[in-house]
Parts: sequence; C-alpha cells; structure tokens
Amino acid sequence: MNLEHHFASLGEAFSSKTLIQPLFEQRLVEFNQALASFLSIDIKSSTTKRILNGEETLSASVSMVYAGHQFGGFSPQLGDGRGVLLGEVKGADGFLYDLHMKGAGPTPYSRRGDGRAVLRSCIREYLASEAMAALSVPSSRALALYDSREAVYRETPEAGAMLLRVAKGHIRFGHFEYFFSQGKQAELDQLIEYCLKHYYPECLAADSPLQSMLVEVVKRTARMIAKWQSVGFQHGVMNTDNFSFTGETIDYGPYGFMEDYEPDWVCNHSDHEGRYAFSRQPGVGLWNLNCLMRCFSKHLERDQLISILQCYEAELQSHYDVLMMKKMGLSKAQNVRDLLPTILTLLAKEKMDYTVFFRLLSHLEVDGFTVLLDEVVDRDSLSHWFDRYQTTRLSEGLVWSKVSHDMLLVNPKFILRNYLAHDAIQAAEQGDYLPFRRLLNVLNQPYSEHPESELLAQRAPEWGRSLEVSCSS
Ligand code: AMP
Ligand code: MG
Ligand code: MG
Repeated sequence: MNLEHHFASLGEAFSSKTLIQPLFEQRLVEFNQALASFLSIDIKSSTTKRILNGEETLSASVSMVYAGHQFGGFSPQLGDGRGVLLGEVKGADGFLYDLHMKGAGPTPYSRRGDGRAVLRSCIREYLASEAMAALSVPSSRALALYDSREAVYRETPEAGAMLLRVAKGHIRFGHFEYFFSQGKQAELDQLIEYCLKHYYPECLAADSPLQSMLVEVVKRTARMIAKWQSVGFQHGVMNTDNFSFTGETIDYGPYGFMEDYEPDWVCNHSDHEGRYAFSRQPGVGLWNLNCLMRCFSKHLERDQLISILQCYEAELQSHYDVLMMKKMGLSKAQNVRDLLPTILTLLAKEKMDYTVFFRLLSHLEVDGFTVLLDEVVDRDSLSHWFDRYQTTRLSEGLVWSKVSHDMLLVNPKFILRNYLAHDAIQAAEQGDYLPFRRLLNVLNQPYSEHPESELLAQRAPEWGRSLEVSCSS
C-alpha cells in the first residue's frame, strides 16, 4: 500500500497524530476486493496489516479537527472522535482517495466518547455505503470490516468493531467553520488552497478560483441531495460536520431507506423535532451551504456569496427532474412535473412501498396494470392516474419495450430495508456473516433479479416495521 500524507502535512493546526489502537482479538471479517484492487491495496499483506494495527514506525495517521452545526446549534470544536485518517492512496483513475478507519480508539477529540464503534453500526455503514455506490449516489465506500472480542458499552454491551472506509475527501463544511469561527485566517486560506489543489484543480484557472470552487461545491451538494430524494434515502444527521466538501455522502449513522412512501418520515429516533425529515433534506442542504458560505465572508462580497448559493435550487431541481424522468420512463421534464405529484400523493395515502411501486411500473409492459392496482385501496384514483400516464407515454412516442428495459436499470429491485440490516447484524453478532454477505451481494447489483435471493426484495414483516434507529453507534 502506497500511502501518501497530504492532509497530515498541513500541520498541527489541522489534525493530531493519532495511531490506530487495535481491539482485543480483532479480525478481518470482510473486505471489498474490487475496491482494494482499484486502490492497489493488498489488505492481507503483512505491511498493510502492520499499518492497520497502528504500528508507530509505519503509520502517520491523524485525527482531523473540525467544528459543526449540530441540529442547528454551533459546536466550536468537534473532530474525529473515533476515526483516524491513515493517509491517501492513488486509485486506478489517477485520483487520490482517503483511507479512514472508524472506531480506531480515543483521539484528542473524543470528548466524553470512548473512541469506539460497535459491530452493529459498522455493518450498517458498510451496507449503506455500498448500496449507495451501486445506486450511483456519491458516497464514501467500505473497504474492510474488522470484528473483535472487545465489549463496547452503549445501552448494553456490544461487540466492538472497526470499519476501513474510503472517500475522495473527509473535509467537511465544519472544517471551514472551525477556522472561521476562531478568526484563523491563515489556516482558512491554507485549507482553501489545499482543496483547490486536491479536489477542484479545474477551478484554479478561473478568475476567482475560490468562487468557482464554491459554485462547484454547491452544485455537487445539490446533485447529491437530488439523488437521495430520488432513491428515497434519508441521512438522519445532516449536521454540517457530516457534510463533505467533495459532495459525497458520509457518516452513515441513523439513516434510512424509504419503504412505505411517507414524505415527512423521520428515520432517526433521536431527531425529536423532525429537523432532518425526508422532505426537509433539500432545504437543509441549502441551510448547511449557507453556514459554509459565511466562512468566506472575508474573501468574497456578500452579493457574490448569495449568487453562489442561488445555483443550488436550479441544480437540485433539474437533476431531480432528470432522475425522475428516468424512473418514470418519460422523456420530458414537464410531463414528470405534471404526473409525479399526483402519484406521490397517492403513494403516501396508500402507504405504498416506494421501491416496489417503481419496480412494478417498470414491468408494466409484461405484467400489466392489474398487478399495480392490486396494491392499492383507491383503485379509481390509480386508474385515473394511469390513463394520464399512458396518454403521456403515447404522446412522447416512446417504444415501451425499450423504455421498460431502461427503467429496470434505474429502478432497483433491492434496497437496504431496515429489517434486513437488522437480520444481518443479529447473525453477525453470533459470528455468522452469511446473511450480511448475501444482502451485500444483492445491494451491489440492485437492478438484477437474483432469483436465489427473492426474499431480500420483500417488504418488512410486521416485526420489522417498528424497529428504531438512533444516534447510538
Ligand atoms: P456523528 O454525528 O455521529 O458524526 O458524531 C458527532 C461527533 O461525535 C463526531 O465528532 C464524532 O467523531 C464524535 N463521536 C461519535 N461517537 C463517538 C465515540 N464513541 N467516541 C468518541 N467520539 C465520538
Ligand atoms: Mg460525523
Ligand atoms: Mg458518525
């Protein structure tokens, strides 16, 4: 493994040297071979093992310091409380990727936490990040999972674990807020320069590289959230310390994938006010970007910052339109805008499964409309909508067999249902990783049929509907 240490070389104002502290009887239980090959990493080589065990002479790992708005309130100092950045490695595409170990032990930023992660949350993150990547949502990735015989105390004792993850970057909106709130101008400038060089080099040639980079951050964030909305993903903790400057979904905690369509759904049971409800995510993205822009108020004029933020809504809406056009098999955005609100209202009223609905719609040509009608109580409303949908399709002059084929490539059969994650976790806690692997396999190819795993496409049974997830991880 050829580790580089670009972020660490920014110096002590940005991070603290922190070694990985292995868990008791830690063992590698799963790794992502395709990703490892892409990064030219041999997970099982002795040098890699020694680096991952935090061997002093080989490791230059650090924990990063940052701040963040958490549930609306500003925390001036957070930081990696249980994660370390091992360094960066070059991918087969020539870009650098961060290697980050979660659950690596206490750091100078652990505050009252133990620096650890439990197997439950590492499995949840592994599954979610891989599912998101397979759905083409920008996301951190899971490279390796380690379990152990060390007890970690949450509400009850749980198995301690670590997750080795990969992202283009781990710089968060909160990194900028940390330096700005303390008036540390030199460090803020250093960070801007670092991000331009490493993540947005194409902006360096612009008249204002910073302005050009910020427009790009706004657009990437908008597109990321448009994708969340289109696949029914809810992050759960959209604090600015969990928002990446590279526009990737990071920090999977009490997230959820929408099952029954419920626009105001709140997956995180610790979010009592529903601040991060599904329908609020686009607005929160803008709120977070607003926090980020404030950090550049000494670099750019107020009007410039406002005009940067104004790119957000149009980018999100147009990207969402395109994604929903594909999901509905239509070729005109206006037609989606005409047809989508009615069907979403109906799905909400019927508590219909979002993923199942779009999958059935993709199969319409073969299975017919009755299959869909049988899903609902209000057959009249659905029939009426269907007439409009058919008329629209005809007016667009599309060949249905081709449309159906394309729809099946964007409407997944398999999503990460909470009860499936729960089953996989319970088995893994007993040392059986087979359910986890089976689930991972279908999530890696969510548009394929997988007849051997038909059960994993099914809606939650009664017991699986009331499972709760919270910030405890
Ligand atoms: P989150 O919202 O889950 O991303 O966490 C917010 C902050 O709490 C981050 O700075 C984390 O590093 C820190 N944190 C979460 N869990 C722990 C833990 N068990 N020990 C130390 N720090 C933690
Ligand atoms: Mg976090
Ligand atoms: Mg976290």
